[in-house]
Amino acid sequence: MLGVVRVRFAPSPTGYLHVGGARTALFNWLYARRHGGTFVLRIEDTDAERSSWDMVQGIVDGLHWLGLDWDEGPDVNGPHAPYFQSQRLEKYREHAQVLVREGKAYADEGAIRFKVPEGQTSFEDLVHGPVRFENEHIENFVILRSDGHPTYHLSVVVDDLDMEITHVVRGDDHISNTPKQVLLYQAFRRTPPAFAHVPLIMGPDKKRLSKRHGATSVMEYPRLGYLPEAMVNFLALLGWSPGGDEELFTRDELVSRFTLEGISGGNAVFNTEKLDWFNQQHMLRLPLDDLAARVEPFLRDAGLWSEEFRDGRRAWFLEVLALLRPRVKRVGQFAEDGRPFFEDAVQYEPDAVKKHMKPELREPFDAWRAVLMSTEPFEPAALEAALRRFAESGGVKAASLIHATRVAVTGRAASPGLFEVIVLVGRERTLARMTSALALFG
Ligand code: GLU
Repeated sequence: MLGVVRVRFAPSPTGYLHVGGARTALFNWLYARRHGGTFVLRIEDTDAERSSWDMVQGIVDGLHWLGLDWDEGPDVNGPHAPYFQSQRLEKYREHAQVLVREGKAYADEGAIRFKVPEGQTSFEDLVHGPVRFENEHIENFVILRSDGHPTYHLSVVVDDLDMEITHVVRGDDHISNTPKQVLLYQAFRRTPPAFAHVPLIMGPDKKRLSKRHGATSVMEYPRLGYLPEAMVNFLALLGWSPGGDEELFTRDELVSRFTLEGISGGNAVFNTEKLDWFNQQHMLRLPLDDLAARVEPFLRDAGLWSEEFRDGRRAWFLEVLALLRPRVKRVGQFAEDGRPFFEDAVQYEPDAVKKHMKPELREPFDAWRAVLMSTEPFEPAALEAALRRFAESGGVKAASLIHATRVAVTGRAASPGLFEVIVLVGRERTLARMTSALALFG
């Protein structure tokens, strides 16, 4: 069992929380929660010109949405004491002065540079194994700028020491920064934390993930209709594997299985189809009441929401969601697929009408409509049996009648099972739609 685990997520607020940052935050969070440790949020805003409060808020919103709570550091909506590097400048200056006094750094045109000693610098990376750099390839680097602001290397080392960080889990793009940081730890006569550099996230074309591949800001995903449960599951498997073929995990299951050893060295591919699959699977597992709460804002936006869905027609509303759910990949699709239920007017897809409402079907369709008027009970099995009996005795294909009825009732060529749809649309509306659809044949 590990001793105390203290990890951190240390974003620079120069952009919104992107997918790669979210994955880094998630790995740190999972590791902290797995070991009953502490997850620190530290905003690295020493570059005042490129940092903005909007971006801090955006990062915080993204973490909130994903449910990644932190134990120390800024919580804009909560109780935690803030860790903003911009509020800790004095600490970095003091540490730079210590190195100058000890002859390990020197003033150079107002800035302070670290004097890189001869030899080699190595560290053991938990993902990549031993990493070694020749110091002659590392130039004497600036640790404090002439304006008194620290560079990233100094502030990150001072803070990771001060905050007693035990494991630094971050993107592979920082691996080349690590020797400089290790040199600083040595100069301060302190043991560096353990490092785990996580492989970068690539698009399906194996190029580094960028806007070209679609949404990169985490907060675009709720708008696109993804559940945080699905995003967390999907991100967790970008570069980490629990061993075995299982893929579908709840947050708690991820917490209980996460290990740094499970991070693989190969690049992780961001595949939207896979994310859709996770979203679908997590939607299928949500209690219907919970699903209803996620769907509501999308129905409101589409002008399809009714307060009765909460109250008088609650049971009906949940049945509609349950019927639509197996075909839905993103939450917003409930608004689209739900129109035939939530709206009285039907919008007919011209292709569906053309394909399924042939003139010769008009008469049998009309007769079948009359049968529907009196079929009892008004339940899927009874309706289906009635249709098949009718088709057989009337010499029409049951399938043709089903297709035409589907188009008449939903306007579309595809829907969940027709008889379930009819029952939820209701007898009156179904018959009214079939009557108006008579005009569409031929
Ligand atoms: N502020 C750095 C970044 O956003 C953090 C690097 C680190 O985790 O050490 O990339």
